[in-house]
Order: sequence, then structure tokens, then C-alpha cells
Amino acid sequence: MDYKIIRSDRRTVGIIVGPDGVTVRAPRRLSEERILRVVDAHRDWIEKKLREEEKRRSEAGDPPSLSEEEIEELRESARKVLPERVAHFAPLVGVDYGRITVRCQKKRWGSCSSRGDLSFNCLLMLTPDHVIDYVVVHELCHRIEMNHSPRHKALMEKVLPDGRAAEKWLRDHGVTVLERRRAKTGGTTPENG
Ligand SMILES: [Zn+2]
Repeated sequence: MDYKIIRSDRRTVGIIVGPDGVTVRAPRRLSEERILRVVDAHRDWIEKKLREEEKRRSEAGDPPSLSEEEIEELRESARKVLPERVAHFAPLVGVDYGRITVRCQKKRWGSCSSRGDLSFNCLLMLTPDHVIDYVVVHELCHRIEMNHSPRHKALMEKVLPDGRAAEKWLRDHGVTVLERRRAKTGGTTPENG
């Protein structure tokens, strides 16, 4: 079973099962072996909570939360795909750029620093190609216009005349995709020493 350990000054172990999976909160110095023992002792409870969580999501019509492995796969393909798209579009926009970083954020699709370093969300890999291109061009146009002024928009339209479809796609489906990377909520076990 996959779980994430978060250590803090607490004195007991707590297990949280939420949309993000299993999180174990543990005292700073407790050994991994002791933590594993606590997790093992609560295995049935954890599995029940995970089943409940997936049921809740499917009843709500939500696509299932992404597992850590799925996110890692998205990261890997993003590291391949995005630099290619950036290299393709940068000359069309007429700009250079710095480093390209792939993150897995819950809020933003991409960003562009004043030095030209670009950052993209690995969840873009779950969107259509024209949406990926739209976000890439959006960030590259920030190399010229660091804002969302009509000038930024005009630059984008020169390179991607049919960017409206991507805008609409993001409006209609963007949040659903971002929410597959979920915040931790849900039940906790009784505390354990
Ligand atoms: Zn922007």
C-alpha cells in the first residue's frame, strides 16, 4: 500500500485517508519500521476508507483521483512533450526562453518568470493537444507581454488564430482535470502511539 509520511512535532501517529490517498502523520524520530507496523495494524480500516473514497468520487461523477504512479507517468511524458512544443512555438512567437520545469499543481497550468523560465503543469498531459499548445503559446507570449493585456491576446492570436476552442475547453473541463490532483481531506484513525 502506498502512503505518504509527513513528520512533525506530534507525539502520536495519525492516518488520514482522503482523495489524495493515504497520508501518515508521524513524530519526527519514529522509525519507518514502527510506522509501517501502525499502518499494517490499520490495513482493513484504510482499505475500507479508500473504497468509500472512490465510491464517493464515482457517485459524484468525478474521474478517479490520480495515483502517485499516474502522476509520475504524467510528469515523465510532460518532460518529453513540453520542451518539444516550446521549441516549436518559440520561433513562431519570436522569443527565447530559459529553463523548462514540470510541476504538478492544483491551480496553475503554466507560468513564465521575468527571466524566461517556464513552468508547466503535468496535468496538461490529460488535455487535448490544442490545449497544450495554447498554454505553451500563452506562456511564450509573456516573454513579450508580462500581462494579460489586449496586446498579449493579439500576440497569441497571431500564432494560434483558433485559440478560442482551447479557451473554451479549459473553461469547461479545466477544473475537473485539476481536481484529479486532490487535496487531503477525509477521515482520520483514532490516534496511535
Ligand atoms: Zn498568463
